[in-house]
Amino acid sequence: MHSFPRPQNTHLHVTPRPVDGDCPECGAAELAEYRVLSEGGWWEVRKCRACLASVERRPGPPFGAYAPLGPTVAARS
Ligand SMILES: [Zn+2]
Repeated sequence: MHSFPRPQNTHLHVTPRPVDGDCPECGAAELAEYRVLSEGGWWEVRKCRACLASVERRPGPPFGAYAPLGPTVAARS
């Protein structure tokens, strides 16, 4: 028996957050931040939506969107 219903979406989707600034490569004002899964795990990236130039790339959460319950559960005393 499954505890969760089958998702209705056929594809995973991430909504990029637009940020101010111009692309250093092509000059377009289309910078956005979003999370990607790539070599080395999850990354929080800031990229140009027009030419895909990377402006910033820093390590993201180790499990991506999945937040393990363990660290948030208070220990009983
Ligand atoms: Zn660009």
